[in-house]
Amino acid sequence: MFDLNLKKLGLNALYFSGAHRWLAGLGAGAGAVLMFHHVRPGKPAPFAPNAHLEVTPEFLQESVRLVREKGMDIVDLDEARRRLLERDPRPFCVITFDDGYRDNLVHAYPVLKAENAPFTIFVATGLVDRTADLWWRVVERVIAEQDAIEVEIGGALTRLATRSVAEKHQVYAHLMDWLMDEVDEDRQRLFVNDLAQRYGVDDKAMVDAEIMTWDELRRIAADPLVTIGAHTVAHHVLAKLPLARARAEIEGGARRLEAMLGVAPRHFAYPYGFEEAAGEREFRLLADLGFATAVTTRPGVLMPTHAASNTAWPRVSVNGHFQSRRYLEVLLSGVAYALYDRARGLRPASPKRAPVAASASTR
Ligand SMILES: [Zn+2]
Repeated sequence: MFDLNLKKLGLNALYFSGAHRWLAGLGAGAGAVLMFHHVRPGKPAPFAPNAHLEVTPEFLQESVRLVREKGMDIVDLDEARRRLLERDPRPFCVITFDDGYRDNLVHAYPVLKAENAPFTIFVATGLVDRTADLWWRVVERVIAEQDAIEVEIGGALTRLATRSVAEKHQVYAHLMDWLMDEVDEDRQRLFVNDLAQRYGVDDKAMVDAEIMTWDELRRIAADPLVTIGAHTVAHHVLAKLPLARARAEIEGGARRLEAMLGVAPRHFAYPYGFEEAAGEREFRLLADLGFATAVTTRPGVLMPTHAASNTAWPRVSVNGHFQSRRYLEVLLSGVAYALYDRARGLRPASPKRAPVAASASTR
């Protein structure tokens, strides 16, 4: 909460000082890739540590209209790449969704169809095949439902109080840090599976409830407005895997998409996508595998120079905690990111922990 307020203050100051001017940070032939996850109506519960990954259909519509009002074309990733490469001077915006949530079909698609706006969904095929879990949501669910949990960390069994909302947030943040940074990917999943079993959370039912089926994906993919991009099989932190396994995750996801949807994906989003999750090794790998573009969750707008690094594009995370026109204006202006770059080391909130989104966690 403290981080959040700091950030709000910062963005407000930036906005009201007039320091940002529309497109001030953008040169000719540049744009932005917007990142969304969930789109659904309603307000999140008091304990909803992933609420930053969720916007309402109304805000999605407002975002589309704002982007166009400001003179940016909404284009797909191939057109974005072409404009950068050819230094086409028309500013553009790309709309992307990560993971393959059913609400993209139910709530986002009708809005974008009505607006005739192209968009991309990056799909982790293990989620659609129900062989992978939304493990961060499992952790969230267990903590939401329990007053205390017992976990084994560093060989010691620890009992953690999760009664109050504050305790729940604290334990969630602590566990996520540990699971993302301290343990390897396989141990992480085993830990969460064990947690789910001991506390009676049906992880497979959660994936069923949240992620599209292949039939649903085929339905949405049939619309020419829609691009399906690759997002690996099991949604692992690629940088934490040995090279051969990282490659297999990327290729396996792409092959499965092609087999099930009939089109080989040309675009890719790194799971989590923050600096420690995808670096130079991964950028080279995606280029070697022939992907046209690959997007991270590193915050930023696209400049003509990104034509030389098509597999390391930044994105603008549309954060559910900031669902207002003025925040989006500031984010898109590029000025916020210029300041962010200058303030590195002083940054108030870790941008990596949006396991699904930008300023907190991006998945
Ligand atoms: Zn993801």
